[in-house]
Amino acid sequence: MRSVPPLAFTYPGGPLVRRHGPSGYLDVQSFRPWLRDEFSFRCVYCLVREQWGKRLGEFDLDHFEPVASSPEASLEYDNLVYSCHACNLRKGKRQVPDPTQALLESAVRVHLDGRLSGLTDEARRVIAVMGLNSANLVRWRLTWMRIIDICQKTDPDLFASLMGYPDEMPDLSVLTPPSNTRPEGVERSYFAMRADGSLSDGFIV
Ligand SMILES: [Zn+2]
Repeated sequence: MRSVPPLAFTYPGGPLVRRHGPSGYLDVQSFRPWLRDEFSFRCVYCLVREQWGKRLGEFDLDHFEPVASSPEASLEYDNLVYSCHACNLRKGKRQVPDPTQALLESAVRVHLDGRLSGLTDEARRVIAVMGLNSANLVRWRLTWMRIIDICQKTDPDLFASLMGYPDEMPDLSVLTPPSNTRPEGVERSYFAMRADGSLSDGFIV
């Protein structure tokens, strides 16, 4: 029997299809608001959420193809993923399968003891290379599974805060990248959806 994955650590239901396509920026930090929205304010590897920490500085803009090996891709939006600092450090120049395609709900089983099992070769490789089953990460994951579970049962406000969207989400409509290959994505940003009332249940899962 397939167990229900713990709520806070459910990987995306399908491969990432990017909504945004800013280009022409001359510095990587200009991509940050787009990547925050693109990756739903979570680390693409370990799923730690902005809402669980103190400040945005804990998140990095990870060059999926390292700058050292692909300098021409250093300012390409599609080569950037949103990653916590710890995962970005761990990745360094390591080669891993693309997490936006490999770490999917159907490819990663999240066990109640905090471990992950990869159900595909690519998912297994990301988990191994990124150390997602290290003792530290399994303990951390289990801790947060328990916190979220307790909050869901006893503290709806804290549950909503920990599982919901940040208060401060970027308004992408006011940004002016030199060009944007997917301008229609701005209307589907979380800021825009909250403004027009279409941000369904308010939880990021
Ligand atoms: Zn991470």
